[in-house]
Amino acid sequence: MTHPAEEPRSTYYQAFVRDGHKCVYCGKDILESFDSFSASHLDHLKPRKENGPCEDVWNRVTACGVCNNLKGSYDPVPGAMVTEDNFAEAVAAAREYIRQKRSGETATSYYRDYEYWLKESGRNAGQA
Ligand SMILES: [Zn+2]
Repeated sequence: MTHPAEEPRSTYYQAFVRDGHKCVYCGKDILESFDSFSASHLDHLKPRKENGPCEDVWNRVTACGVCNNLKGSYDPVPGAMVTEDNFAEAVAAAREYIRQKRSGETATSYYRDYEYWLKESGRNAGQA
C-alpha cells in the first residue's frame, strides 16, 4: 500500500493539506489523536448519488466522523458541481446544515433518541 505522503498530488493529500488537517465543518483537529484520525473521512461535499462520484479535489473535504454522519446525503449545491468558485459557499451551507442537526434545531431520530436516553438515565446534555 502506498503511503499518501508519497503521492503529494493525490486528492487526499491536497484536500487534507488545504483543510489544515481539520474538519471543514466543525474545526475538529483530525490529528489530535489516533481515534480522531481513524474516524475521519475524505467526504464528498456533493454526495455521490447523482451522476456518479465526483473525485475532484474541490468536491473532497476533510470531515470528522460525527460531521460526516450528520451530513449524510445532504447536497449543498443542488443542480451544480462544486468548483473553486463555489467551494466556500458549499462548505458554509453544509456546515449550517450539520450545525442545525447537531444542536437539535432540525428534528432527527438521533436527536430524539439522545434526548430520550438523557432523560431515561437522569443526565443532562453534556454531562458525562
Ligand atoms: Zn466535524
